[in-house]
Amino acid sequence: MLLKHTTPKDSLKNLLPAGWATALKIAGGYLLAGLLWILLSDRLVAVFITDPTALTRLQTFKGLIFVLITGLLLFFLLWRHLRTLRRAEEQVFLAAQGISAEIGDAFFTSLAAYLAQALNSDCALIAAFEDEEKHQARTIAFWRDGAIGDNFDFALKGSACSALHTSESCWCPNGVANRQEADHPFSRMQIEGCLALGLRDTRQRLLGVVLVMSRQPMGQKKTAESLLRIFASRAASELERRAAEKKMLRMAYYDELTGLPNQQMFREGFDAALGRARQSGSQLALIYLDFDRFKTIVRTLGHRHGRQVLQLTAERLSQQMDGQGLLAHLDGDEFALCLPQVNSVEDVQGFIAQLLAAIKIPLNVVGHELYVTASIGVAVFPHDGQDSETLLRNADVAMSRAKALGRNNVQFFNPEMSRASFQTLVLENRLHRAMERDEFVLLYQPQLDLSRGTLSGMEALICWTQEGRSQFSPSEFIPLAEETGLIDPLGEWILLSACEQNRLWQQAGLPPQRVAVNVSARQFYHRDIAALVARVLRETGLDPRWLALEITESVLFRDISETVRTLEKLRDLGVHLIIDDFGTGYSSLSYLKNFPVGTLKIDQSFIAGIPDDRGACTITTAVVAMAHHLKMSVVAEGVETAAQKAFLAEAGCDKMQGYLFSPPLRSDAFADLLERSAA
Ligand code: C2E
Ligand code: MG
Ligand code: MG
Repeated sequence: MLLKHTTPKDSLKNLLPAGWATALKIAGGYLLAGLLWILLSDRLVAVFITDPTALTRLQTFKGLIFVLITGLLLFFLLWRHLRTLRRAEEQVFLAAQGISAEIGDAFFTSLAAYLAQALNSDCALIAAFEDEEKHQARTIAFWRDGAIGDNFDFALKGSACSALHTSESCWCPNGVANRQEADHPFSRMQIEGCLALGLRDTRQRLLGVVLVMSRQPMGQKKTAESLLRIFASRAASELERRAAEKKMLRMAYYDELTGLPNQQMFREGFDAALGRARQSGSQLALIYLDFDRFKTIVRTLGHRHGRQVLQLTAERLSQQMDGQGLLAHLDGDEFALCLPQVNSVEDVQGFIAQLLAAIKIPLNVVGHELYVTASIGVAVFPHDGQDSETLLRNADVAMSRAKALGRNNVQFFNPEMSRASFQTLVLENRLHRAMERDEFVLLYQPQLDLSRGTLSGMEALICWTQEGRSQFSPSEFIPLAEETGLIDPLGEWILLSACEQNRLWQQAGLPPQRVAVNVSARQFYHRDIAALVARVLRETGLDPRWLALEITESVLFRDISETVRTLEKLRDLGVHLIIDDFGTGYSSLSYLKNFPVGTLKIDQSFIAGIPDDRGACTITTAVVAMAHHLKMSVVAEGVETAAQKAFLAEAGCDKMQGYLFSPPLRSDAFADLLERSAA
């Protein structure tokens, strides 16, 4: 419903003494004086003067005297009225100016104080609605009996101003306390009369209320309402600004999904809690919680329901906190909790047991019963660190340990963890997160055919990027991924991505090239690699001849008979096989001829020695000759200089790979290279 719009100027007119009433008073007085004069003056004069000549002369003067006296009277009355008008106008403008110069809470306080004084009422307040339904309001400024009062909440519904939802103002000259429930704040203040005006934004949405109240019955509705109206639009825009500020603050400090404090707010709150613990000499526990296999949940249920799971679990964690300590949603599926005033480890253990029990109750998501578990790490102040940085890191390390120990368990930090295993733990934990956050990309390093000088094949190399930066080299994290078993999903993803990408390039009409994918030891021995490759080829539709697999020499010679069996299965699929890092594995060359391998890749440590290191040169030349003798081709990797390239060409090496030709490239850059090679 659109409410009538009143300007402050209209309000001011209403507020000042009404002009027509005064004019009526003056004119009435004049009329009365005239009538009395006409009726009484002749008789009065006749009483005192009996001489007819003198009487005639006086009657001429009588008219003049009447005009003179009434003229003076008129002048006095008008002058007094205009002076009152002027003063009242000045007062309102001065007050309006003074109040409007304030901003924020100071504005509201000045306004409440001014309204209470100007309208001679006991209380005045400005309140904003806290809830969507606008039933519950909280005062921003409350002026009571000449001083600032404590802010309080009150319900609009059932109060004397409940009609504000539908009308512009509520006027209740008396009996306010009787109309409300006895425990309503207005009843407790024994309010008798009140006037409320809704504060609305430009779209007429109710934002708050300005209210003047008195313990005596109230009169002069018009004057009071006019005064409230003068300030209403400014107060409404100030409320709007306040709400916008609050929203911005919320966004900076709270997580939108769960409504919990975010990392920033947690850090600030945690620092403050640490300060208090230091002062009181008490202990404080920091609990790091990470849900197990959250990625699987998201993959199975989709992102929308994954978010729902996080919201539900966040709610459960909040319930467990019961308004104590700090709880924050840090990132992804990680939460941090801070328990102040901890007396013993048993206290923390008891709390965590409750936490885990609450998490364990199955969640109902899209009609499924979903079981989630969490890994928890705990660091206690002051034993496990003096500052927030150390404590957070140590709790993270303990949580990583909990994950490494098979998840769904709790680990308290101990210094052992931070020594040798620290790097590994952190890296391992980050690996899991990286996998969940899709931080891996595949790069493609092109190879050059040395005799033709043309592009000939490529190697797919995994790259771990976090916010665009490369984090760890594959030589660091691949062995760890092997140890933890993460290589299984990661290796499958690599194979699938490389085959899919190669097929896409071919579909785009680019010249077909073979992509070589590195296979790790665990993939080679503990998984049915041939079945995996066959499935990936089937799924991606890539012709097997455009796929090569690189297996490091040292891996191949671990179990010769197993190796031969697996290699044969792979060869039967039609994929090309490459021995990577050749020359580092001290392998028995006599077995080499039994392997159905198409290419030897000379390790970069030999290439690095060319041309100065005679040993490296000799080995390289011998490997090329031997490979050719066994009908294998040779690739040299890590070629960085023109001298190395010249030597390799001279030695008859088939292909080279290295920074001299090109670093590993992102798929779009590699597509450009393919396009240029076709031209
Ligand atoms: P690798 O298979 O022998 O790969 C060659 C490494 O040499 C790559 O390092 C490559 O970036 C680097 N390289 C290329 N050209 C030059 C050069 O001119 N000079 C020098 N100094 N280095 C060059 P990267 O990417 O750090 O990979 C290291 C190792 O990690 C790889 O050695 C491979 O064993 C492993 N790796 C990489 N990607 C994967 C993968 O997708 N799966 C598996 N299982 N292992 C991988
Ligand atoms: Mg390789
Ligand atoms: Mg290599």
